[in-house]
Amino acid sequence: MKLKDKNLYYVGGVVRDEILGIKSFDKDFCYEGNAIIFSQNLNKLRENPDFGTVRVLFNNEEIDIASTRTEKYPKPGHLPVVDKIGCSLKEDLQRRDFSINAMAKNTVTGEITDFFDGLEDIENKKIRVLHDNSFIDDPSRILRGLKFAVRFGFELETHTKKLQDEYLNNINYDMSFHRIKKELKETFNLNNEKAFEIFISQNIYKLLGENQNTPQIKTSIQKLVEAHKPKNIWLVYAGLFNLEKLELNTEEQEIINSYNSIKNEFPRNDFEIYKLFSNLPLESILLYAISVDKNIATRFLDFLSEIKLETSGEDLIKLGFKQGKIFKHIFEKTLEYKINNPYITKSDEIEFIKENFL
Ligand code: ATP
Repeated sequence: MKLKDKNLYYVGGVVRDEILGIKSFDKDFCYEGNAIIFSQNLNKLRENPDFGTVRVLFNNEEIDIASTRTEKYPKPGHLPVVDKIGCSLKEDLQRRDFSINAMAKNTVTGEITDFFDGLEDIENKKIRVLHDNSFIDDPSRILRGLKFAVRFGFELETHTKKLQDEYLNNINYDMSFHRIKKELKETFNLNNEKAFEIFISQNIYKLLGENQNTPQIKTSIQKLVEAHKPKNIWLVYAGLFNLEKLELNTEEQEIINSYNSIKNEFPRNDFEIYKLFSNLPLESILLYAISVDKNIATRFLDFLSEIKLETSGEDLIKLGFKQGKIFKHIFEKTLEYKINNPYITKSDEIEFIKENFL
């Protein structure tokens, strides 16, 4: 059974994706009227009366239904506040970011509501804002535009591009960086260097705050990122900029700090490479790859990082060594030997230790 009502619509990304013939990440519903009243006989999991939104369990699926609403921006660039709940569908669609995201599909008739020519823009592969104040209201839409452009192979429609340029030439940094961070993550998590190129060539990086230098990108690392799958892909790209305003968490800050600690280092042999990178976050090493030297980083990631000593502390005790500072020295020297002779066995390691330290 499907969730149907003549006032209930699929809205936003799900409609866009269906037209594009691709799978949607999530299914957003919008009820023309009050969704909380509409869902009173459904299995309601939670509701948020301030936003007029509700989550229901239907056929074992969690579904979000929003009431149609209008929003206001008390301060440009800050989070909007709800103005009216239960407005017309047209007014609800009007608050959205781009024409391709401002369509609705009726759950009963299947009819598509398209006040802003989203269908035509999909056909022409264009990203178009709905009004001239769109980026001033919410500058994170610039990153959303980049995300959709790269994801679908679309480009900004001429007037939208002009509005974007105007905004980026005159940014009001009194904005919600929370949303900037969220959209930046989604955009760069695509691991698509096209996004990075546009981010720089269209000056979108200026959204990250004043005092930015445009980094020099040495080489493509898309394949390296694909092969090693870091958790924070976005930072492998965004980490080259000054991210002060984004409120990084401890893990993210550690990635940046580690990268800063190695970016001026040039190890000259395998052991130096090993020492430089071991125990560092993967993202910091990938940042080194993209901005300093990809060959050195690849040597570590694809080969050296696998090398481990098989000899343990217990083995050293069995050989007659007394636990203490000497252990660290022996391990380091034996590791150096192994890094230069990666295919030696455990007994070769023990032989080396006996020859050099007993
Ligand atoms: P995705 O496939 O990345 O989830 P989506 O279009 O579903 O894309 P969401 O971020 O889930 O994106 O947002 C759902 C809908 O809400 C959008 O399709 C759009 O209509 C609207 N929306 C989201 N963010 C904004 C924004 N910053 N400004 C205006 N409308 C927005």
